[in-house]
Amino acid sequence: MSNMIALNSETICMSNGLTDVLIDVLVLSGSRLAQTVDERRLIVWLAEKDQSKVGIGTVGFDIREMPWNIERFEENRQFMLKTVELAQNRIDWKNLDYAPDEKMLFPVLQQFSEMISKLTAECVLSNALGEWILAADKNDPVLCDFPRCEKHGALLSCFGCHICNN
Ligand SMILES: [Zn+2]
Repeated sequence: MSNMIALNSETICMSNGLTDVLIDVLVLSGSRLAQTVDERRLIVWLAEKDQSKVGIGTVGFDIREMPWNIERFEENRQFMLKTVELAQNRIDWKNLDYAPDEKMLFPVLQQFSEMISKLTAECVLSNALGEWILAADKNDPVLCDFPRCEKHGALLSCFGCHICNN
């Protein structure tokens, strides 16, 4: 089984293990970088792609479904590109208790970055952010000031810390 990240007809297909690694490194770098509510939301949303909680091979997504804030789309997009760049610079990888396989991971990071570069405000699903927030439980980290994992500094999702869980 595997997971796919898609944008229109373009897809990244990853093994389940590689998916966990991709989310781990993006959550680590994004948690370090995120300052605004928009930015923290984007990283928490990625952290919810937690196969240990929602099922192996079930966390594929379309980049248009991410909780982009249309009113600040370009800032959101630049933040996500920067998050990938920090991951490519191995930011906070020392916090992982394993060494990512760079031969597998780097092409996926590069492709993810290229997809985000191609994303436009027009193709984003404009109700994705609102629907996601509406569906959140009142105790969800995304509504409770964005707690972090004490061990990893990672923003928590409703499933806890993606890195601890992986
Ligand atoms: Zn943790």
